[in-house]
Amino acid sequence: MKLENPRNVPEKLLLGPGPTPVESRVLRALSEPTLGHLDKDFVAIMDETRDLLRYVFQTKNELTVAMSGTGSAGMETACVNMIERGDKVIICTHGVFGTRMVDVAERCGAEVVTVSAPMGKPIDPEDVARAIKDNPDAKVVGIVHAETSTGVLQPLDDIAKAAHDAGMFVLVDAVTSLGGMEVPVDRLGLDMVYSGTQKCLACPPGLAPVTVNPRAVEHIKNRQQKVQSWYLDLTMIMRYWGQERFYHHTAPINMIYGLNEALRIIAEEGLENRWRRHRRNAEALWDGLEALGVKLLVDKEYRLPSLTSIVVPEGVDEAAVRKDLMSQYSVEIGSGLGELKGKILRVGLMGSGSNKENVVFFLAAFGTVLRKQGFGADIGGALEAVEKKLS
Ligand SMILES: *Cc1c(COP(=O)(O)O)cnc(C)c1O
Repeated sequence: MKLENPRNVPEKLLLGPGPTPVESRVLRALSEPTLGHLDKDFVAIMDETRDLLRYVFQTKNELTVAMSGTGSAGMETACVNMIERGDKVIICTHGVFGTRMVDVAERCGAEVVTVSAPMGKPIDPEDVARAIKDNPDAKVVGIVHAETSTGVLQPLDDIAKAAHDAGMFVLVDAVTSLGGMEVPVDRLGLDMVYSGTQKCLACPPGLAPVTVNPRAVEHIKNRQQKVQSWYLDLTMIMRYWGQERFYHHTAPINMIYGLNEALRIIAEEGLENRWRRHRRNAEALWDGLEALGVKLLVDKEYRLPSLTSIVVPEGVDEAAVRKDLMSQYSVEIGSGLGELKGKILRVGLMGSGSNKENVVFFLAAFGTVLRKQGFGADIGGALEAVEKKLS
């Protein structure tokens, strides 16, 4: 075997839907000495990580852990633990990730009732209320808080209330919201919420933070059937993250160091400051894009501060735009998924990636690439709009 020597991974600016830029502090933490998974020095880092996770989730939930796996493992954790074969569940789909949740729930043997919204729109709480009324035997309502495939921020207040009034559990996907905006876990009594490390938490992919309230923990403990997945079974995982330190599987030690450091960075900035920063830079990006002359998919009220979807202008080849941004400027952005493939471009401003420099650089690069394709982007106007917003 011939190896290329030395191997050099080039630096690129990650302004897509994730992974997002990782600060050197976090990369350094990943390279700290690997310890045993029951070592007291490692266990102390785990305990602190759990406390920091409670802080970013804004929760007092005892059962707050980082599952070994990416955001999708968080989704599977929620489904396999809360759903038993034959259970009826209501799942809201307004994009690719809601649809994925339906797939996962069906694999758990659930009978799934779906409530949908057109791509780019939030779920209407009235539709959920109707589904709850029509299906009083459903146990769970599942919903995506930040639909990364469309850029829609889903308001949760009314939906959570309707589900709880009917005695149902609420499962929430907060993969692209946690760390970038409020995720109202305790405020709304959300029963199980999961996330991923490579979006607004600004850590490499590999862990899925999950928090479960006492009511859902009781439900899991009282299951009739065993959890379908041995690996993601919270009844065992909670014994490792708790005082017992029961061996289940070897924790991804260095990934926990990385997450710990990423969470420390968040605590140093302060959660509210971080939400405000994401919001301000996103608003500057929106103003800049509008001045540039392009349209956004989502109405302002429901836009995510972490991810913006741009409607591909008539006559513009979106694949060529992404290719040029990468080859000319080393900038990565996302394409449309599912129904929106070819129709939108997705720009993420998450974690340390949410800053004024990136907004300005992206608008200038994007405008230049669009002009090459004959679209008359007003780059000067876009940069002025950013300056106006952020000065
Ligand atoms: C990214 C994402 C996921 C999946 O996470 P992976 O880390 O890719 O497994 C799930 N839900 C949402 C809303 C996401 O944005």
